[in-house]
Amino acid sequence: MGRLLLFALVGGALVSLVWHLAAAARRRAQGRREAQAAAEEAWRREAEARAAPGGDPSRPLEVSSPAVVEPRAEGLPCPVCGGEVRVDEHLARLVDGQRLRVARVSCRRCAHTREIFFRLTGQG
Ligand SMILES: [Zn+2]
Repeated sequence: MGRLLLFALVGGALVSLVWHLAAAARRRAQGRREAQAAAEEAWRREAEARAAPGGDPSRPLEVSSPAVVEPRAEGLPCPVCGGEVRVDEHLARLVDGQRLRVARVSCRRCAHTREIFFRLTGQG
């Protein structure tokens, strides 16, 4: 009788253990799928941001003055999460003979960094 109880307890514990392991494996697999989907989504949004004005040296945003570069850059939300960005660096760069301004921004929320390109209009 005592033995039967022991078997029942051990058997029950084993069933419970196997069930928990299977559930954990399912959660891990789902987590991987979600992480992969999130990475693909982030990649797609980054590609979209690069194709948008300012995302590439060949498509700079036009500004009238260097003073406008930083506020304009900070006005563009993070392409990955939509969070606010801050300007880490503001550089002048010559790309294919064009004098461009580059704002290096990083997201305050997800830390994604990117460069936004500007061209000064008016006097050079
Ligand atoms: Zn972000």
